[in-house]
Amino acid sequence: MSAHQWHKGRVVMIKEEAPNNHRFIIEMQDMERFDFYPGQFVTLDLPIGEKNSERWRSYSIASAPDGTNKFELVIVRAEGGKGTEFIWDNWSIGSEVLVRGPQGKFVLPELLDRDLYLICTGTGIAPFRSMIHHILNKNIAHKHIYLLFGCRTKADLLYYSEMRDLEYKDEKFSYLPTLSREQWEGNTGYVHDIYKKLLQNKPPAYFYLCGWKNMINDTRHNLQELGYDKKDIHFELYG
Ligand SMILES: Cc1cc2nc3c(=O)[nH]c(=O)nc-3n(C[C@H](O)[C@H](O)[C@H](O)COP(=O)(O)OP(=O)(O)OC[C@H]3O[C@@H](n4cnc5c(N)ncnc54)[C@H](O)[C@@H]3O)c2cc1C
Repeated sequence: MSAHQWHKGRVVMIKEEAPNNHRFIIEMQDMERFDFYPGQFVTLDLPIGEKNSERWRSYSIASAPDGTNKFELVIVRAEGGKGTEFIWDNWSIGSEVLVRGPQGKFVLPELLDRDLYLICTGTGIAPFRSMIHHILNKNIAHKHIYLLFGCRTKADLLYYSEMRDLEYKDEKFSYLPTLSREQWEGNTGYVHDIYKKLLQNKPPAYFYLCGWKNMINDTRHNLQELGYDKKDIHFELYG
């Protein structure tokens, strides 16, 4: 499939994962497989404007490649957001959507020969869910994987029990969620305190950051201040 062509997809599953956060499974029509690298994204052409720039919205693929023609997206409804309001108001099982992709270079290194820090907030977990499942499904040799996930309250935790299960299955995977606006049995505050603590002795590591601007900018800055090289800090900016 060419990443530049538009193909018809159909919504085959919708699930509320958290308030205003839905999981969608899209099945590509007229193709038997939809292949991609974990971490890549698709672009949707939504009928919400005349110009391309008004209509196109990108979403990271949240599922691991599995040789089928289906993939998952996890999308947060943005208040006043044209694209997500369209999706919420119009998509139901069977809805058709034009899809372009896979696209993007936010992909894993060839060798996972250092610890992997996957740092995200909100739906920024999408590409990391894909990467983690891929590594574990394919038994890819890896050093320790840390998934740092920040959100406001317990209700906003995405894929919580799934990530806990994966942590239970692989002792080299740590899931470290943190809440910024609610006390609970786990970590509270922002993701920054967590990686700063883990990186005190500056272990060799690859960093992948995903989400909205503030978290990404602050994390890039902090990691460089800790002495890590820019080239080992990869990021996918949602806006
Ligand atoms: C590579 C990539 C991958 C991405 N992956 C994901 C993903 O996996 N999941 C995900 O949820 N998002 C993802 N995004 C973000 C996504 O592409 C959209 O930007 C997001 O869904 C918002 O789109 P929208 O059309 O609803 O908002 P837009 O209409 O584009 O508006 C953007 C923001 O402006 C505000 N706004 C718009 N109009 C008004 C108004 N009149 N008054 C006040 N405020 C307003 C909205 O609150 C909104 O937050 C990704 C982005 C990129 C670039």
